[in-house]
Amino acid sequence: MFHHVARRCSSLITTPLLRRLTTPAASAAADIAANGLNFELTDEQKEIQKTARQFTHDVVIPAAPELDKTGKYPYDIFKQAWELGFLNTCIPVEYGGTGMSGMDGMLIVEAIAYGCSGISTAILSNDLALTPVLVGGNHEQKKKYFGKMVEAPIQAAYCVTEPGAGSDVANIRTSAVKKGNDWVINGQKMWITNGGVADWYFVLARTDPDIKKGFKGLTGFIVDADTPGVTKGRKEWNMGQRASNTAGVTFEDVVVPNENLLGAPGEGFKIAMKAFDHTRPPVAIGAVGVAQRAMQEALNYSLERKTFGVPLIQHQAVAFMLADMAIGIETARLVSYRGAWELDQGRRNTYYASIAKCYASEVANKCATDAVQIFGGNGYNSEYPVEKLMRDAKIYQIYEGTSQIQKVVIAREMVERLQS
Ligand SMILES: Cc1cc2nc3c(=O)[nH]c(=O)nc-3n(C[C@H](O)[C@H](O)[C@H](O)COP(=O)(O)OP(=O)(O)OC[C@H]3O[C@@H](n4cnc5c(N)ncnc54)[C@H](O)[C@@H]3O)c2cc1C
Repeated sequence: MFHHVARRCSSLITTPLLRRLTTPAASAAADIAANGLNFELTDEQKEIQKTARQFTHDVVIPAAPELDKTGKYPYDIFKQAWELGFLNTCIPVEYGGTGMSGMDGMLIVEAIAYGCSGISTAILSNDLALTPVLVGGNHEQKKKYFGKMVEAPIQAAYCVTEPGAGSDVANIRTSAVKKGNDWVINGQKMWITNGGVADWYFVLARTDPDIKKGFKGLTGFIVDADTPGVTKGRKEWNMGQRASNTAGVTFEDVVVPNENLLGAPGEGFKIAMKAFDHTRPPVAIGAVGVAQRAMQEALNYSLERKTFGVPLIQHQAVAFMLADMAIGIETARLVSYRGAWELDQGRRNTYYASIAKCYASEVANKCATDAVQIFGGNGYNSEYPVEKLMRDAKIYQIYEGTSQIQKVVIAREMVERLQS
């Protein structure tokens, strides 16, 4: 796709254009593993990073303030990102994908989140919806739904959260009842990224009416958004990341064919949680992108703004805030990359994915808050870029599992490691 796409985008991107990745992700990862610990990106990864940064510079950064003010969905940017191969990076080559590794995808998210994390969330959310199909879907489901994403710049969404069940996923009430060869879904999902703009949904529903069965009674489905009975809610006006669409989705007697059931009845929770192993490292690196932007803005300002006759950076209290930002960013980036890298090695990465998500989101919030502090009164004003960063950063501690839930997961993984 890159090949074909890159030509169409030559006026947009002036750096060498991306091409279809020729090295399968697994063998690239194996090469790196064979050489031991290595912090060097491959040539292809450097090219991906360079192109994503250029896209951010040329397209994302200029659009961000207006999208933040209006909350308009960035359809045009989404389309351009799709044309460049920055979307749906988890789709394997055999289904028309670019063949990117998890680590390759991280470089794109990090670059775009630096420019606007609302836009990077809008883009990354497709992968969140695709991943349950990747980990739990059969060949026909992958062919059909990955095919749709490769064919056109459309959106998909991951529908798990409900008004009464966020962290407590096992408490989901949306029901799916078997009727002949179909399933009938009823229920309400909320806080769904891309919920109002998606073409199809991954939906987690209860197929065993016995609530005591908890997560064992949950099953995953693919639901086309144009199925009768699906109602998209209005866009929520959130604190930050306003370029991203968050909406409720209601399912009323929605008939879904059995061929859209993922895995087997009762496997839905496992599929939904396994998806997080793939998507938490990219979410974490999005937070790193925000932190990096906050640091960069604060550093620039601290060199320009003078108080008591010297630039701010010459006050040790300010310099140390910047140094703490650098410490947080470097370490959060490493653990985020580790989360993606472990998965690329074909290993279980839950422990690293949760550490990365929890830590990087704390770092992003600290960096953005301190950047506002370094800007003083200007930092509190929307004419300057850092108040947006502070609002945007907060969601990283909430979606895809709150920081508290990440710690629950990390502690559980620690015990499992001790006992295995
Ligand atoms: C902008 C946005 C986008 C989102 N996108 C999606 C999406 O695309 N798909 C989707 O399915 N969901 C999405 N969500 C939902 C999100 O994942 C949930 O909001 C989140 O998991 C928390 O659930 P909750 O809001 O119900 O909070 P609750 O679960 O009610 O938690 C409230 C507070 O209690 C704490 N808490 C709860 N249980 C425990 C515990 N056992 N131990 C310690 N502390 C605990 C939590 O950490 C939190 O601080 C999105 C949310 C937002 C705001």
